[in-house]
Amino acid sequence: MLHRVHDYRHLIDRWRGVARAAGLRLRRLAKEDGFDLFYLETSELAGTSGLYLSAGIHGDEPAAPEALVRWAEKNAARLAGMPLLIFPCLNPWGLRNNVRTDSRGRDLNRMFHHDRHPVITAVRRVTRPHRFHTALAMHEDYDAQGIYLYEVQRGRNRFGEALLGRAMRILPPDPRRRIDTSTAKNGLIRRRLVRKIFESMGYPEAIWLHLFHSQNTFTFETPSEAALELRVRAHMAVLDECARRIRGAA
Ligand SMILES: [Zn+2]
Repeated sequence: MLHRVHDYRHLIDRWRGVARAAGLRLRRLAKEDGFDLFYLETSELAGTSGLYLSAGIHGDEPAAPEALVRWAEKNAARLAGMPLLIFPCLNPWGLRNNVRTDSRGRDLNRMFHHDRHPVITAVRRVTRPHRFHTALAMHEDYDAQGIYLYEVQRGRNRFGEALLGRAMRILPPDPRRRIDTSTAKNGLIRRRLVRKIFESMGYPEAIWLHLFHSQNTFTFETPSEAALELRVRAHMAVLDECARRIRGAA
């Protein structure tokens, strides 16, 4: 039996509750693999001060969508006053089945450079008019030995350490010096975009965001083998810090 965090219908019921409490409308994004997908957009979203949040693109990373809805429930009273675009779960079939890909084995996080997947096409359409102060893609990793964060480098205004610092109160940083193929320091991977790499493998969400939509772009990862509650709280700590940063910028 799957854990409750894989129950997509329950997740969406909770998002309906958030939308009701916040005075927002949960909008229909797409229908895929038999599931209705939704997003939330506040009327404050204008200019370049916004925050883009997305979870559940990989279905076997359940702490991310759980943390996002819990954070939204906790902040429901002030959600409408913040400039937000939220995608609560981009791969419901994967979440329900506890697998990374969609039902046809496609990794959605390699498909942001074109319109060949209906969910990604819908995300691109909804996001098109907007520019964000900060974008956060929420993930988990089975190989991780602690929390870690990718920060796509742009200019001098960086705050990856601050995001990690908040989450480190809950889970330790990944001690590895190399994570995937990148150099890491105390769980932070900060690098410039090398467009060529992604042109051959396909654009992840964060790369597409960096290129076209966001000033500061992060991918946060929690270690899948740590306790679920700690993983959820680590994600929520990063969300809190992102929200604090955009308030400071507005
Ligand atoms: Zn992932």
